[in-house]
Amino acid sequence: MSNILDGKVTSNQIKEELSQEVAALKASGKRPPHLAAVLVGNDGASLTYVGSKVRSCEKIGFDSTLIRLEDTVTQVELLETINKLNNYATLDGFIVQLPLPKHIDEEVVLHAINPDKDVDGFHPTNFGKMALGMETFIPATPFGIMELLRRYKLDISGKHAVVIGRSHIVGRPMSILLSNKGNPGNATVTLTHSRTQNLAEITKAADIVVSALGVPNFVTADMIKHNAIIIDVGITRVPDENHPKGYVITGDVAYDDVKDKASFITPVPGGVGPMTIAMLLQNTMLAYKRNS
Ligand code: NAD
Repeated sequence: MSNILDGKVTSNQIKEELSQEVAALKASGKRPPHLAAVLVGNDGASLTYVGSKVRSCEKIGFDSTLIRLEDTVTQVELLETINKLNNYATLDGFIVQLPLPKHIDEEVVLHAINPDKDVDGFHPTNFGKMALGMETFIPATPFGIMELLRRYKLDISGKHAVVIGRSHIVGRPMSILLSNKGNPGNATVTLTHSRTQNLAEITKAADIVVSALGVPNFVTADMIKHNAIIIDVGITRVPDENHPKGYVITGDVAYDDVKDKASFITPVPGGVGPMTIAMLLQNTMLAYKRNS
């Protein structure tokens, strides 16, 4: 039976620490940190994510602004909105929720965000600093995973970590952070992706597996070694008519199959997801401190 890496409990601890910091700021007459989120269109999952980001801000005493734009918004109009947010002095950070409609070039939009306000850490300046091990805004999902490892005092130094998925927001930065100097860090990392051959042979040799591909129940017990640490980033809505919402959130890892073989495992939901939000708030606090 493995130990659960509880992202819900850990993220609540982080939020509690942040809310105490905000209370102290307010008590000394200072304004709280301010985060804005830009949401284009009505995608159900995006609405849920942005909603919980805004609610989390309110809960810990941050100011928050939600900017909703129609999915017919032009790229030029979106860039104008970003420009305004870039120049809004008492706004510390903002995010543009992905994915964007197909007629908008995501890269152009993300590159237009002022790196000092890019609390998602997607701008090349911030990504480059992360790769160099400099202080910066680290993308919230891999940052949350590193924080979970840190708070559970899991030593991954010198261990073999295998990351599944090479996206710019999860897999690639994850592979960099795991291999960076530091604690947690110093792992020997293999980054795998859709063209990887003999994936199961590679994951079987791993002390830690981070799965970020978005295929439900992809990682099974026969793909991992005994006592591996298993981090499940996947979030897929799988249709389920027995569920009131009509779907269930499913991770990349076949949890029931894997849980007895792993030493530590993140559940879905309640693992990496809540940590992502907590680290976005942490990045906003960092932006605030730099902006004050
Ligand atoms: P993505 O679609 O951008 O990337 C998926 C990656 O998986 C690609 O690099 C691809 O090469 C790789 N891949 C696909 N099939 C593969 C296979 N058979 N074997 C090996 N690699 C394969 O996805 P993403 O944005 O990185 O998200 C991945 C998952 O994580 C999704 O389910 C997403 O919803 C979830 N996610 C969760 C959080 C969170 O907060 N928990 C945050 C971001 C993304």
